Amino acid sequence: MGERPSEFEIIERYFSLGVPSAWPSQGIGDDCAFLDIGATRVAVTTDTSAIGTHYLPDADPWTVGYKALAVNLSDLAAAGSTPRAFFLALSLPQSDPDWLERFSAGLKLAASRYHCALLGGDTTKTVRIGDQCAPAVITITALGEVKKGLTRGGARPGDDIWVSGTIGDAYAALMFRTGQWAGTCPAELARRMDCPTPRVELGEFLEPLASACADISDGLLQDLGHILKRSGVGARLYPEALAVSDALAQVPHERRLQAQLAGGDDYELVFTAPEALRPDIVAYAVRSRLSLSRIGKIVSEKNLLVCKPDGTPIPCRFAGFDHFR
Ligand code: ADP
Ligand code: MG
Repeated sequence: MGERPSEFEIIERYFSLGVPSAWPSQGIGDDCAFLDIGATRVAVTTDTSAIGTHYLPDADPWTVGYKALAVNLSDLAAAGSTPRAFFLALSLPQSDPDWLERFSAGLKLAASRYHCALLGGDTTKTVRIGDQCAPAVITITALGEVKKGLTRGGARPGDDIWVSGTIGDAYAALMFRTGQWAGTCPAELARRMDCPTPRVELGEFLEPLASACADISDGLLQDLGHILKRSGVGARLYPEALAVSDALAQVPHERRLQAQLAGGDDYELVFTAPEALRPDIVAYAVRSRLSLSRIGKIVSEKNLLVCKPDGTPIPCRFAGFDHFR
């Protein structure tokens, strides 16, 4: 048996099948695929999550329902699209009315908050194989409407790099909750892990302005890395410019940096935009009371350097999340 491929090697090697010309789209590699149906451009994304992989085994089903939809809406936001509808495929080891009641209440709140209608899906049972516990797996496909749409390609040398909100919070919550960091998990961080806010309005604002965009599900370095690869550029990153939550500010510096650069699950947006747009972006941040941090620059040299404020590169050994690494 050869070396086992990583998550992204799996996608590249086995599932980059190309796009038949009958229904043109930009293909695999962005947060959403765009399909032109009549005069309407539809953004489509699908995300799977499993209890035990994406949620702790004892996660409150309400938060599972809320978050399962929120992470899909985050991909729609990264594409600059407005959520319209979703499909739900649910694979469960058992029919537990209490679990289903809470799951559906969380899902329903996210759906009504973001005006997204459940239009269909599938419900099935998973079974135990040997002594392996049967998992609960939730797959959602979400559809949004978009004018042109944002992709991970399009970043140009000289563009600024921006990040919304605070990042590292969900990762810090996971570290506290799993005992990898000592102490109780601050409520502020727990909320960020359980109930992420898809940046739908920000995505709509950025759609005509940003040159590239992605949501941060797997860590800033990794998700910015996707933008760099798709755009054929590099970056200089200044992590000291990142906004930090009050709770994460209490964490020792090295841990905080690891959480901010490599921790996933915050579902903030990382985007690039020409320098001339700084006033518009700052005005939006003030208007919407959402912090937008300018954290670096796109360069033509195809590497990603993490730097101190004076420009000295920091040796960086953090890697983002990959399911098979
Ligand atoms: P995201 O985290 O935004 O959901 P990923 O970075 O995980 O997206 O995936 C990268 C790209 O690969 C996306 O365009 C996604 O749609 C695509 N992709 C992931 N898994 C598969 C698969 N099994 N088959 C086809 N495309 C896939
Ligand atoms: Mg994404």
